[in-house]
Amino acid sequence: MGEAKRRRNAAENAGRIFTRKDGGFNWTDTAHPRSPCPFCDAPLDRASSPEGYHPSPGNFTVCLVCTQILIFKQDLSLRGATVEELKKLDEQHPRFANKMRLMQRAARLVDRQRSARG
Ligand SMILES: [Zn+2]
Repeated sequence: MGEAKRRRNAAENAGRIFTRKDGGFNWTDTAHPRSPCPFCDAPLDRASSPEGYHPSPGNFTVCLVCTQILIFKQDLSLRGATVEELKKLDEQHPRFANKMRLMQRAARLVDRQRSARG
């Protein structure tokens, strides 16, 4: 499979999993205290959920700037997820872990398209 086709398939799969059965999107934006991404230092202050969730302590999230997986702390500031936490997520919630990966892939695609346009 060529690179272009592989990327298109990844984007389509990511789009499909975050689309409601009736074809609509249900993105919920929640503001949270500004917290720099521990990996790329992006000043994150807003979480978007494709399934209508609001962030709470212990929730996983993906930095849409560098695509690293983060976790909300008690005060809703952010820290990087540890290898152990990611392993546990894979074992206990494989479907959710898969969605996180699709989200990472989708974020990377957006990033590439943006840099391709200049
Ligand atoms: Zn980041």
